[in-house]
Amino acid sequence: MALLPTEPLQILEPQPVAHGRNDLRRSLVGLSRDELKQVLAEAGLEAFRARQLWQWIYWHGVTDFSLMTNIAKKTREQLAEQFVIDRPGIVTEQRSVDGTRKWLLRFADGNEAETVNIPEEDRGSVCVSSQVGCTLTCSFCHTGTQPLVRNLSPAEIVGQFMVARDSYGEWPTPTADAQRMLSNIVMMGMGEPLYNFDNVVTALKIVMDDQGIALSRRRITLSTSGVVPMIGKVGEALDVNLAVSLHAVSDEVRDTLVPINKKWPIAELLKACADYPGARNSRRITFEYAMLKGINDSDADARELVRLLTPIHAKVNLIPFNPWPGAPYECSSNNRIHRFAEIVNDGGLSAPVRTPRGRDIFAACGQLKSASQRGRREKAAL
Ligand code: SAH
Ligand code: SF4
Repeated sequence: MALLPTEPLQILEPQPVAHGRNDLRRSLVGLSRDELKQVLAEAGLEAFRARQLWQWIYWHGVTDFSLMTNIAKKTREQLAEQFVIDRPGIVTEQRSVDGTRKWLLRFADGNEAETVNIPEEDRGSVCVSSQVGCTLTCSFCHTGTQPLVRNLSPAEIVGQFMVARDSYGEWPTPTADAQRMLSNIVMMGMGEPLYNFDNVVTALKIVMDDQGIALSRRRITLSTSGVVPMIGKVGEALDVNLAVSLHAVSDEVRDTLVPINKKWPIAELLKACADYPGARNSRRITFEYAMLKGINDSDADARELVRLLTPIHAKVNLIPFNPWPGAPYECSSNNRIHRFAEIVNDGGLSAPVRTPRGRDIFAACGQLKSASQRGRREKAAL
């Protein structure tokens, strides 16, 4: 039985340590515009340098000060003495037969998290992690079985997307959205983004800044397991698309799947969703629903889902359960998933069945970090 943590347990903040380098030069990545201005001012540099550096870092993707041709050579040398523009270290990059790429990244303190890019015909969605592990213990999610947790910093969150852009060579920022290979960000990697709210907000504001990576808020989706008091704040601070991990239509079942439900049950969650700013105009909230054999996949469940979501501007994402070693569930059969989808569709809600991507490299929903941990255990056994 999964235990319900009373609070986001023992979330450690990243420690300021030398960044895998032999020095303590400060990284300029992950600072808000104001912070960047301030850091440069402390180094005796004028405010307009912040604007120039921002464009070099986030529009051009440059990591070498000597390439910043509109800055005088002497200033570039001063910058290089005091600062760096860095990325998380890449431990491995794996490529699935279906084109999905997954990076295992290592941060300055040795902690690791995974990032995935899922290419589709008209888009590439980069699935970004917000924490190392997760304090929540959803019983069907492998990330939830990992003990070690700390919040990722804004630099580590933005850095994941920058690593993906490096890997695809997508610098400078494409001027037309249609030209982007990496066109979307989904905060659906490891961790609960609303338990790392401030850092996620800083990171996403950097990503949305139109002088840099310039991703529109319509191309960003934040997924939450249901941290009700923070949902309205996402609307105020970011107004990005919202996805909610619902997975069950009764509190009894959801308590066992998504234990945070004991704190904020379905009715409270749906109320917060109905009040989300996007929900009042054309943007729909996505409700994620993992299909678990015999647990949440009956015809009655599908009808209840329609009843619950009809008052909300909603769509449903049906996710076939992705198994992991020792998982206590099985995926519903194809027939069951399609019948379930049919009932939800007939009820007037869009309910596409998500094709699992990157299963061969353990990159599918809920599988993150498992491969790297297993790999290390295998190595240790040699
Ligand atoms: N922590 C956030 C972001 C998560 S993961 C959240 O829970 O919303 C993205 C989605 O994958 C969530 O809906 C999550 O519940 C779901 N998921 C987790 N493990 C899964 C598994 N093994 N199979 C299918 N979906 C899973
Ligand atoms: Fe954490 Fe989301 Fe996994 Fe639940 S589903 S354990 S909130 S990552």
